[in-house]
Amino acid sequence: MVKAIVGANWGDEGKGKITDMLGQESDIIVRFQGGSNAGHTIINKYGKFALHLLPSGVFYDHTTSIIGNGVALNIPYLFKEVQSIVDRGVPMPKILVSDRAQIMMPYHILFDQYEEERLGGKSFGSTKSGIAPFYSDKYAKIGFQVSELFDDEALREKVERVCEMKNIILEHMYHKPLINPDELFNLLIDYKKMVEPYVCDVAAYLHQAIKEGKNILLEGQLGALKDPDFGIYPMVTSSSTLASYGAIGAGIPAYEIKNIIAVAKAYSSAVGAGEFVSEIFGEEADELRRRGGDGGEYGATTGRPRRMGWFDAVATRYGCRMQGATEVALTVLDVLGYLDELPVCVGYEINGVVTKDFPTTVKLAKAKPVYEVLPGWKQEIRGITKYEELPENCRKYIEFIEKEIEVPITLVSNGPGRDEIIKR
Ligand code: GDP
Repeated sequence: MVKAIVGANWGDEGKGKITDMLGQESDIIVRFQGGSNAGHTIINKYGKFALHLLPSGVFYDHTTSIIGNGVALNIPYLFKEVQSIVDRGVPMPKILVSDRAQIMMPYHILFDQYEEERLGGKSFGSTKSGIAPFYSDKYAKIGFQVSELFDDEALREKVERVCEMKNIILEHMYHKPLINPDELFNLLIDYKKMVEPYVCDVAAYLHQAIKEGKNILLEGQLGALKDPDFGIYPMVTSSSTLASYGAIGAGIPAYEIKNIIAVAKAYSSAVGAGEFVSEIFGEEADELRRRGGDGGEYGATTGRPRRMGWFDAVATRYGCRMQGATEVALTVLDVLGYLDELPVCVGYEINGVVTKDFPTTVKLAKAKPVYEVLPGWKQEIRGITKYEELPENCRKYIEFIEKEIEVPITLVSNGPGRDEIIKR
């Protein structure tokens, strides 16, 4: 059985916690896109962890953690991250890395920084982890696959060729130090030594695992609204964040994904630039940011304060639809207990016309939120384990959202801990 856990919003929905929880019943957990640019926060018996590249299954001894071909693989980062959890008492996880994954090169990270510098105030708000230059090179066919590390001669020749091109840009466009091809080649040989024990034909491995009826979990990063095709282009990420892409980024047939859990947050938050219709500002936003998540809404990778907003039913319904969500996990509901009233964005007004359909970015830029206001429950809901025991106004909020997004909410998360979850 293959399940996917993906974001219905802009990322930071609390997918890490839901993956960690469902990891208990999974044999294999696969990262299928993105890189070390986003972070999952997980709290378990070993402590509190912010994972960036490792799948959330690394804390269990019965799961195999896989870096799929769709991931931007930063090899030294991966090994630093493994070391950092092992140093804190977590048993050495079983990790496999796809032989078809591509390698994040040091110059991708530099190009990301240089480009943000060049753009100045018009920047995309990149996390500067090299993601955009990495995927650009992958599709321009000048990226390096893990498999290519294992042919010295061809590797050396390709390094020379790629350096030639990169150095022209470094010299004439960015006026930055050039890349030395010998140094780069030696670095890649170091990378080879680091990654060699984990390299695997992941597609073949998963084919076999599916045959054996293993439970496989695909773990998405960011959310539907950051997808390069269906998100708020161009303020998106560079690899698809949709569950459908899980098939490609892991190497399994699309029809094997039976269950898609979209994670939606009980209010909105976003990092970086981009259209955000239900955004709030000032003291109202500061208070929600301060109380939000677990210890405030600040980026897990960058520490940047997140932008805050009310729950956006238009964006979330669209996000769930594009994910193909079969069920929804609604998270961080406990945070909202301080509010007298909870506005929910149920429509967008664009040029005087109200719509419930999420538009393309050009129109989105003109959208004004249409709110319906629900009464608050003014109560702490952490510690509650049964749905019926939630305050009535809290249940009404959940059921209102469920009606708006048109997907059953089967999980309600009312605290950051692994067990703070209400199953419906
Ligand atoms: P992800 O990238 O989707 O995994 O999201 P993040 O981990 O960046 O953000 C979620 C944050 O909210 C983390 O700090 C979690 O520990 C926290 N969190 C997750 N679920 C809940 C919840 O139900 N209540 C509270 N208060 N915090 C939660």
